[in-house]
Amino acid sequence: MKIEPFRTVNSFLRQIYGQRVQKIPLDAGFTCPNRDGTKGRGGCIYCDATGSGTGKGFEKISIREQMLSGINWAKKRYNANKYIAYFQSFSNTYHSDIHYLKDIFTQAFVSEDVVGLSVGTRPDCINEECLDMLKDISKGRLLFLELGLQSASNKTLKHINRCHTLEDFIYAANFVKSFGFHLCAHIIFGLPGEDIDDMKKTVLFLRDFHVDGIKFHNLYIHKDTIMEKYYNNGLYTPINQEDYTDIVAWSIKELGQDIIVHRLTGDPNPDKLIAPSWALDKGSTIGLIKEKLIKII
Ligand code: SF4
Repeated sequence: MKIEPFRTVNSFLRQIYGQRVQKIPLDAGFTCPNRDGTKGRGGCIYCDATGSGTGKGFEKISIREQMLSGINWAKKRYNANKYIAYFQSFSNTYHSDIHYLKDIFTQAFVSEDVVGLSVGTRPDCINEECLDMLKDISKGRLLFLELGLQSASNKTLKHINRCHTLEDFIYAANFVKSFGFHLCAHIIFGLPGEDIDDMKKTVLFLRDFHVDGIKFHNLYIHKDTIMEKYYNNGLYTPINQEDYTDIVAWSIKELGQDIIVHRLTGDPNPDKLIAPSWALDKGSTIGLIKEKLIKII
């Protein structure tokens, strides 16, 4: 087994289960309060109408079917035998009917080999009823709650039209921790108006908050987003690969070995990507981060 210069989610899961545990991405066809008018319209300025989803939810492919076909793929591709059901797109706790949410999540538990549930959502879409339900259905499975923060600066959050504040994140994150779930925060480097010091402040905030895990993303520009207009009008220059890999390496060193790294870089859709082109070369970005990290730890 390859030793990484930081604690990855794969090594964390392997420690517990003694084997590879594969995440199976699922799309439940949810939406987002920042798109349907509850909080805002049009969404965050970098988000396209698919909310990073596969579209399977809107095609009405059930979660059970998605899970079974994902497991089939993971068995063939990685010889995997243990799985995490991963609700990734849009805000996966954003539904007023708790019974509907319960049904959606439990559909993913197609066998005992589904050892965990990972739910991505917004800080303003968490409430006690929902967390109680998740605790109730998980029954010994790992439960990862992924909250999008993106930046610890309220000025930036306003600029990117997140329609939530740092205080919303703190409230929701404390709630998640009080339930004993694994709290994973999402952050983005290269947001408009932010310099390296702003990015460092976000990382130091999360370190001091003691999140359990983190996902790093670089801001990339997809077609049909507000950022596309900024970029085409010369109002925004994406972070370059050198600066991005420097700041991620620095962040991992600052966060220390207790915080699990779930993701090192964004994952743009090649058919939708406008810029930067280096965002498609994940292998070289990850390689550079590891090289730089080894030099500074
Ligand atoms: S919160 Fe997520 S799904 Fe909603 S608009 Fe922002 S990026 Fe898109």
